[in-house]
Amino acid sequence: MYLFGESLGNINNLSRSASRRIFREGVLIKCVQCGHTYDPDPFMVLCPRCRGLLEVVMPSKTSFSMEIARMRRFSVWRYRELLPIDDGVTPVTLNEGGTPLIPLMRCRSGTERVVDVYVKFEGSNPTGSFKDRGMTVGVTIARNIGVEGVIVASTGNTAASAAAYAARAGLRCVVVLPKGGVAKGKIAQALLHGAEIREVEGAFDDALDDVFTEVVVNGGRKLYPLNSYNPWRLEGQKTIAFEIVDELGFVPDIVIVPVGNAGNISAIWKGFKELYSYGLIDKLPRMVGVQAAGAAPLALTWEQGADRLHAVENPQTIASAIRIGKPVNWLKALRAVKESGGRFITVSDEEILVAMKMLAALEGIGVEPASAASLAGYRKLVDSNLIDGGEVVVLIATGHALKDPDTIVSKVAARALQLG
Ligand SMILES: *Cc1c(COP(=O)(O)O)cnc(C)c1O
Ligand SMILES: [Zn+2]
Repeated sequence: MYLFGESLGNINNLSRSASRRIFREGVLIKCVQCGHTYDPDPFMVLCPRCRGLLEVVMPSKTSFSMEIARMRRFSVWRYRELLPIDDGVTPVTLNEGGTPLIPLMRCRSGTERVVDVYVKFEGSNPTGSFKDRGMTVGVTIARNIGVEGVIVASTGNTAASAAAYAARAGLRCVVVLPKGGVAKGKIAQALLHGAEIREVEGAFDDALDDVFTEVVVNGGRKLYPLNSYNPWRLEGQKTIAFEIVDELGFVPDIVIVPVGNAGNISAIWKGFKELYSYGLIDKLPRMVGVQAAGAAPLALTWEQGADRLHAVENPQTIASAIRIGKPVNWLKALRAVKESGGRFITVSDEEILVAMKMLAALEGIGVEPASAASLAGYRKLVDSNLIDGGEVVVLIATGHALKDPDTIVSKVAARALQLG
């Protein structure tokens, strides 16, 4: 893959022996570009043959049963048999997941046909975003492979989450942040949990390049990279799909997800597909990815019908968690949306702010700007007649309002509500 140049070779050969105890029997990793499969290796984060992204392949059979799982705590590890971590490994966990699925009551537009709309409120995770679902898996692996710590580039939430889970595991946490581009609540969390913060000039995409350099400079052994090109982290995030099915008791028609690096939408789709392949559900939802108009590489690629990413050089949006111009997981996400019969759409910053205010003032659900993109996207689908009567829609509300207090105070709080 273009992003990281030639240097990943050093990392790929490490720790093969350790991997046997960590991963579930029968788990493989597969290149999404050339299709080659490999035995699981925590340090192999890109395909050694073609540098494509890797994806975890679960065993073809499972002993998982929803009835038995429901006797466990409602959290990521309820679905343990569906995760690639061996049953003998003790997770580094803060009881993440188990987030509320909240039906919208008042936030409906007049033109809307009868649909049921739910918000999956990921703001109620331990550090306030869905990133915790990935970090519980990623940091569990890190703790078992003899590294000193973890390293992430982040628009903020990944840093907050990595910092908390690393603290719990007794590992160092290095976070690389775009200078001036991270919301206050997220920096505060990273500091509080004791992360080592490095700021770089430029945007998130530059910070990610920096992490790569750091990992290579350190020979790949000291700091384990936990960005969303790490396929193991996404395995935790696929539990969003499991919880939706678990709680609704059926599969929704449409799932709407704010898209930045595009790991989450890929992970959620993978979760649904795995339930389907195990015969645990009998239909699949359409996946809708929402991007901010000024940071919409995937929506642009989608509109052009292109099969190569249309990168955005200088991404701009108030929704800092999705201010990303070169989404690492673009190929996975493009395939997910295509396969599911869904689409990508864009929303303006103004539409995001209106949706954020609506969720908060009409429903009592406080989210950060990126998260409100899912409601803004839903409203756009309704206005364009792209949702049928009788459909069930789930909006992923990715992060908590307190993450970005400055935007609330300066742009949202006093806003008069514009309905319909
Ligand atoms: C990380 C994040 C996103 C984007 O998720 P991707 O997996 O990068 O597409 C959206 N909203 C919030 C609040 C996030 O923290
Ligand atoms: Zn490959």
